[in-house]
Amino acid sequence: MGIKRFVVNLAPTSLVKIFAGPYVAGDSIEAAVETAKNFWDTRKVCSTVDLLGEEIETDEEVDYTVGVYERLIEALGKQEYATISLKPTQLGSHKSTDHCRQVIEGIVARADTFDIPVTLDMEDHTFTDMTLEIFKAVKSVYPSFGTVLQSRLFRTDDDIRSIAGLEARIRICIGIYVEPKDISMTKKPVMKKKMLEQTEVLWKEGHYAEIATHDEALIEESINRAERLNLKKDRYEVQMLMGVPKAAFQDKLIAEGIKVRLYVPFAEKWKYATNYAKRRLLSNPAMALYIVKNMFQKTGGKK
Ligand SMILES: Cc1cc2nc3c(=O)[nH]c(=O)nc-3n(C[C@H](O)[C@H](O)[C@H](O)COP(=O)(O)OP(=O)(O)OC[C@H]3O[C@@H](n4cnc5c(N)ncnc54)[C@H](O)[C@@H]3O)c2cc1C
Repeated sequence: MGIKRFVVNLAPTSLVKIFAGPYVAGDSIEAAVETAKNFWDTRKVCSTVDLLGEEIETDEEVDYTVGVYERLIEALGKQEYATISLKPTQLGSHKSTDHCRQVIEGIVARADTFDIPVTLDMEDHTFTDMTLEIFKAVKSVYPSFGTVLQSRLFRTDDDIRSIAGLEARIRICIGIYVEPKDISMTKKPVMKKKMLEQTEVLWKEGHYAEIATHDEALIEESINRAERLNLKKDRYEVQMLMGVPKAAFQDKLIAEGIKVRLYVPFAEKWKYATNYAKRRLLSNPAMALYIVKNMFQKTGGKK
């Protein structure tokens, strides 16, 4: 385990909560909706709103999650700037793929009545098959349903072939989960080179690519390739996480006519936000150091 991971895992929840503040819209539906509306009104930035939570293993918690998504959909209503994102392990994956598909399809059906597209996030490799199976089934009923592919996994070229002809909305990213070496790349530059290639394949096969990265050079090169392919700007968008300090670059893209969407997560109960927050802290280069400093200050460790 790297030192950064060790430090972030050790950090008390109260400290994680403070440092994760910029990455989370708040602790209510109202806060999330307000954040998304504000991004749009002030900068024409779109959002995908997500209820934080994963690895849920009781029917009660799944019912609670469905209820929150239903209230979120009502609160967002018909608008032009927000989609929603959700995860299989929030929504019944502990029981079976079929059960999870039914639960997700229920939410997608509700969102569809307000013309709100839904994206199925991709979790670690143990859920890739399930996620793609659910995606294909629900997409056949609700065409705007989208999902995510992770360039780091060796299987992703095959997965792209498996969605040929679907003209799908695909978020392409390197993938946040550290995966076993026998199924995944280990070096970020290699993952990013692959992501570029796969973005191009997605375009050539008629898909809508959602380029999810904070790497400005990677985004610029993706846009160059889109231009070389004579693609219109309505064939892709750029996605980033709220809280990652990239506003100036996002505004530049928007001024060039490129759609930018931020991932806007919220949690009514903080326990559901902890894993997400820790992943964000791990990907922030300065954060582990801040946490160590603050832990020592808090515990009197300066002595
Ligand atoms: C909208 C969106 C949705 C995503 N959905 C999924 C998903 O469903 N499944 C999945 O596995 N992964 C998902 N990811 C995560 C993605 O796969 C990457 O792991 C993550 O974006 C980090 O990689 P990067 O391409 O931004 O490159 P990096 O090299 O990690 O980052 C590029 C630059 O941004 C900076 N940066 C990155 N993160 C932070 C931060 N937290 N704070 C400050 N600076 C930072 C880096 O320091 C670096 O300078 C999603 C990412 C986004 C943006």
